[in-house]
Amino acid sequence: MSWESTATYYRKINERIRAVRGGLSSADLLLHSVDFSRVVAWQKAGAWQDAAEYLATVGFNLQRAGADCILICTNTMHRVADDVSDRLDVPLIHIVDATGEALVRAGAKRPLLLATSYTMEGGFYRDRLRSRFGIEAKVPDADARATVNEIIFEELCVGRILDISRADYLRIISCARASGCDSVILGCTEIGLLIDEKDSELKVFDSTRLHVEAAVKFALERDSH
Ligand code: GLU
Repeated sequence: MSWESTATYYRKINERIRAVRGGLSSADLLLHSVDFSRVVAWQKAGAWQDAAEYLATVGFNLQRAGADCILICTNTMHRVADDVSDRLDVPLIHIVDATGEALVRAGAKRPLLLATSYTMEGGFYRDRLRSRFGIEAKVPDADARATVNEIIFEELCVGRILDISRADYLRIISCARASGCDSVILGCTEIGLLIDEKDSELKVFDSTRLHVEAAVKFALERDSH
């Protein structure tokens, strides 16, 4: 929902379309880039219903403008995904499902979830992984959760990519491996700006990349009909 990761979505979707279609092909898409400060104010106030109504209206307007499917380009705001999909006739491609399917495909059983505090501590994300995919995601301890969350909002969402924060994340991943985790979910769409798969001791499941792949797959299948 910060434009830092919205830009990543836009680039990655177009790169995938060009890779598949070649030449000068690019994605035919609609983008409603929101004012993230409004969303953060609702998050801080716990005003999830206000956020839900806003995002449902945005989604509905995109549908009316011709969208064949809708993506909410953040993990955290999937807390209100059901409110948004209730307003739509077109499918909402859910980021937890895209991630869960990839975990199952790879045989991952004990992933560490790195995300905002809302996502790590709220039920909406881990419950869906458990109920739909039988996967029990682990989260770091309270101190590490605070560090992960602070780096997201104070740095990544404003485009600050710092080596010292990368080292913090890699240390948390290393501890999780020592305690039995077999993989790590980058469950916040900005974390991929900080962590490169090759630096991680655990297999990486980047929610942004997986969400993009699910959307491109949907679009290509729809076009082939
Ligand atoms: N984009 C982040 C996520 O995937 C956090 C920012 C937000 O609150 O949307 O959760």
